[in-house]
Amino acid sequence: MTDATARASSLREYAEATADCTRCALAAGRTQVVFGAGHPDADLMFVGEAPGFHEDKQGVPFVGQAGKLLDKLLAGVGLDRSDVFVANVLKCRPPGNRDPQPDEIESCEPHLFRQIELIQPLVVATLGNFATKLLSGRPLGITRVHGEPQEVALGGNRVTLYPLYHPAAALYTPSMLTVLEQDFARLPALLGAAIPTPAAADTAPQPPSEAAEPTSAAVQLSLF
Ligand code: URA
Repeated sequence: MTDATARASSLREYAEATADCTRCALAAGRTQVVFGAGHPDADLMFVGEAPGFHEDKQGVPFVGQAGKLLDKLLAGVGLDRSDVFVANVLKCRPPGNRDPQPDEIESCEPHLFRQIELIQPLVVATLGNFATKLLSGRPLGITRVHGEPQEVALGGNRVTLYPLYHPAAALYTPSMLTVLEQDFARLPALLGAAIPTPAAADTAPQPPSEAAEPTSAAVQLSLF
């Protein structure tokens, strides 16, 4: 089994294990966990905020209006969903699509860090404030940092973090859509420039402790 195949099967097993997650109170109101979807070995990963009504029903991220815009933006740079992996900060829908709460983010973040660890993307594009603040480990908002690539260590690897406006916000604000399109246009060059190197220990937002030993954890999962 190649390394990529082993990681893909570990990701599938992790998705199965996550399906009955009860780490936070959102479990009580969800239809299902929306784990994420796409290429298990993608170089480019998108991280949004949380499932909405349609995502909760269908079990797939970004299937509503914001998802249609994401598809259009991807097509604009010659990509589609099967080339990338799409996930969210929260895997379960907050009631009424309210903002994620800090305790929910804290409970759910091990799932996201484990996904990043298994997929090993070169570029992680964060969509909106919640994903950007969580994965950059900084409090700076999306208006300030969108379109500025940052080098971070995530899931045991060096990753280019690329903050973007959330497509849902751009849907109703034409000026934001223009900026989002411009930022998106830089993705192919970023992907071309991103070179996989081991993470330096000192530059990270630290993944939670259970994600701290990527190799042995991945091997363990693939045994089952
Ligand atoms: N918005 C998100 O952040 N994620 C989704 O899956 C859908 C809409």
